[in-house]
Amino acid sequence: MERGLIFNIQRYAVHDGSGIRTVVFLQGCPLHCLWCSNPESQGAVKPVTWYKNGQAKTVGQWYTLDAVLAEIEKDEIFYQTSGGGITLSGGECLVQADFSAALLRAVKSLGIPTAIETTGALPITAINKVLPYTDEVLFDLKIMAQPLAKQVIGDNVAFVKASFEAALQASETTVIPRIPLIPGYTAQMDNLHQIIDYLHQCGVKKVHLLPFHQYGSQKYHDLNRAYALEKTPLLTSEAITQIHDLFTAENIDAVVYGLD
Ligand code: SF4
Repeated sequence: MERGLIFNIQRYAVHDGSGIRTVVFLQGCPLHCLWCSNPESQGAVKPVTWYKNGQAKTVGQWYTLDAVLAEIEKDEIFYQTSGGGITLSGGECLVQADFSAALLRAVKSLGIPTAIETTGALPITAINKVLPYTDEVLFDLKIMAQPLAKQVIGDNVAFVKASFEAALQASETTVIPRIPLIPGYTAQMDNLHQIIDYLHQCGVKKVHLLPFHQYGSQKYHDLNRAYALEKTPLLTSEAITQIHDLFTAENIDAVVYGLD
């Protein structure tokens, strides 16, 4: 029986694909982004323990396909009225590619639209498993400028590009690159210029920009881990506008998300 390790199911999400979504967060991620707002999902596919108010709590629960589908179907009316559906996120949902593919396939067979959020930092076989059942890919394009790219995503830039290009070639799938704007990392101008060059090469005309936030900082305390960006200030609205205008000047439609 297919089972997946899930650490959260969030209903009524509006920033994770078209319309109102149910977002299924899958455990496991090969990366360790310093700004990660779900640090409990990093590393191997296994439950983790954190401490809230002195109490130990296990994060991550094994679900059968039927159990997740039962959660998803509760909100079918919202998908129909808003054009929404389900989104697999993480962590990196491609780490559990077989379960993700089985879930997306089952959801699609119910007539519910499907999406994934991914960094694509895995061998191409992973994304190829899910693409036939995925209507929308929100592709996390973080960083291309060296040496920061190596520091942040290791030797995975080739994986990221191959996965991105495979998604673009999937004729039934819409791909939207999403760029987290992290001060001192992804929001640096040389990185943004390299991403723009790559988007031009790929013929991509639309991006989502996700300004840095501090929503995940408490989780690092709960996990008893240091949070390297604790003191990093948010981008100013002027800086965000400047980055937005950089993309539009290059004929790339840029939508800024997550400011509300
Ligand atoms: S890819 Fe996403 S889940 Fe994985 S470490 Fe980076 S921000 Fe966190």
